[in-house]
Amino acid sequence: MVDMAKIEILVERVDNKELRFIGEKVLEGKRLSFEDAVKLFYSSNFNYVASLAEHVNRKKNGMFAYFVVNRQINPTNVCIYQCSFCSFGVVRSDPRAYEMGLDQILKKVEETYNMGGREVHIVGGIPPHWRYEDYVNLVREVKRSFPEVIVKAWTAVEVHHMSKISGKSYEEILSELKEAGLDALPGGGAEIFSDRVRKIIAPYKANAEEYLQVHKTAHKLGIPTNATMLYGHVETYEERVEHMERLRSLQDETGGFQVFIPLAYWPHGNRLGGRRTSSVDDLKTIAVARLFLDNFEHIKAYWVTLGERIAQVALNMGADDLDGTIEEEKIVHSAGTSSAVGHTKEKLIKLIRDAGKIPVERDTFYKPVAIYA
Ligand code: SF4
Repeated sequence: MVDMAKIEILVERVDNKELRFIGEKVLEGKRLSFEDAVKLFYSSNFNYVASLAEHVNRKKNGMFAYFVVNRQINPTNVCIYQCSFCSFGVVRSDPRAYEMGLDQILKKVEETYNMGGREVHIVGGIPPHWRYEDYVNLVREVKRSFPEVIVKAWTAVEVHHMSKISGKSYEEILSELKEAGLDALPGGGAEIFSDRVRKIIAPYKANAEEYLQVHKTAHKLGIPTNATMLYGHVETYEERVEHMERLRSLQDETGGFQVFIPLAYWPHGNRLGGRRTSSVDDLKTIAVARLFLDNFEHIKAYWVTLGERIAQVALNMGADDLDGTIEEEKIVHSAGTSSAVGHTKEKLIKLIRDAGKIPVERDTFYKPVAIYA
């Protein structure tokens, strides 16, 4: 499907002039424009878009597909922001509200460490009673207890909130977190950058400029970060591309993003409601992202939101990473996903092999730990 001669024939023979023009740009390694990406989203020639994306992916990543042995820890679901799309955050008086103690969190890290995990991904709600020091101390205690574990913690939304409650700048906060042991920032909280959409789904938390500024500051301090996009709710294709364009611009400037993660919206248990995205939309979003984000090395097919089977297909349509073992996913499961809450390393290896790719266990920074050829 992505053999050079075959892809050239595919581009030459496509019966739509605009798609042919875009295909020629891809073959020549030229950057796609905003308009090109919007056309790909609206195109009904799914096979063409997917084939171009996989061609680009194989040029970047060969037959390798990545995963990490990791654990998600969500210390609390109490949140002051109450975004309408969110099924995870609740007010403190809600019977579903929970908050983990430090001992509980360290026990989870220990379990992960003992089974060979080397990354913890820590994000949660924004509780009204947490002080700035609570965020820093949690990182410090995890790192002090398990120095070999990579700590990927706190979204840009949480960092922005820390700035509001402490009066400190992003640079001061990220420097203090780094000194406490923070290794990387996750990409959550980006949702869709458009002001129109944010007013509907997330009017109170950090806005697009604030999200991007936190990431830019992290990159300046040598802290790598991930980027996300929550799609499939009230946004348009144009707003998806505008979102990706802003990430691409920042990546041109800093080079600090490691991976782009499209997150499919799940509509259950929240005020926004709506419908689940189609599998075609999920796969096309991954393919367009791979084609448009020419300065991102990796595109993730996050198996939790996509489901294992669609994530496997995505590994042949532009994606090169499945995420990780995770162990205990709570956020997307609150919104109704039926995928498992975690997988063993063996299961991820099998998923990747069955997708026709070579599994590579990686660390947080995409350094290979083991190749399962
Ligand atoms: S998306 Fe994040 S900030 Fe918004 S309500 Fe949910 S947990 Fe809180």
